[in-house]
Amino acid sequence: MLLLAALGLLGFVAGVVYASTAEWTIHRFLMHRPLMRLKHFYKGHAKVHHVVYQGDESYFVGTRPRRDLTFAWWAMPFPVAFHLPMLAAIGIWVAWPLAAGMLVAFILYQTSYETLHYFMHFPANRWVERRWLFQWINNHHRQHHVKHGTNLNVVLPLADFVFGTRRRLIVHESLRGVEVPAA
Ligand SMILES: [Zn+2]
Ligand SMILES: [Zn+2]
Repeated sequence: MLLLAALGLLGFVAGVVYASTAEWTIHRFLMHRPLMRLKHFYKGHAKVHHVVYQGDESYFVGTRPRRDLTFAWWAMPFPVAFHLPMLAAIGIWVAWPLAAGMLVAFILYQTSYETLHYFMHFPANRWVERRWLFQWINNHHRQHHVKHGTNLNVVLPLADFVFGTRRRLIVHESLRGVEVPAA
C-alpha cells in the first residue's frame, strides 16, 4: 500500500515537472509559430490573444468582450489526451500508480492553466487574486505579454528558470500607475 502511494506521489511530482516543460514547449513552438496543421493554436494565441491583451492596461479585459482567454472548448482536453498513449505505456511497462499520479498532475495543471490565465486577464478581486503567489505568477505572465519570448510558463515557471527565459516584469513608463482593477 505504502509502495503504491509512493509511486503515485512520484508520478504526480514527475507529472508536474513534465507539464511545466510541456507548457513551455507548446507555448513556444505551437502557440507562437504557425506549425503545419496546428495553426489554430497560433492564430488564437499569437494573432488574437497577444493582439487584444498587451503589456499595458489592455492586459486587463475590462468591459471588452472576453476573447481567447481560454482554449476553445474542443481544444481543452487536447494537452492531456495527447499524452494518454504515453501514460498507458508507462502503466503497462512500468507501474499503473505512477501513470495515475502523472494523469492527476496533467489534469490539475491544465485546469490551473485555464483558470489562472482567465483570472489574470479578467480580475474580479477573487480570494485567490489577493494571494502573493498569484500576484507573483500574474506579474510573470504579464511580462510575457510585454516580450513574447520570455516567461512562457503560466502555471509553474520551472521550465522558464531551467531554459533561461525567466524575466522580471519590466515596467515601462506607459505601464506605471496601471493598477489591477479592483473588480
Ligand atoms: Zn495571457
Ligand atoms: Zn504567448
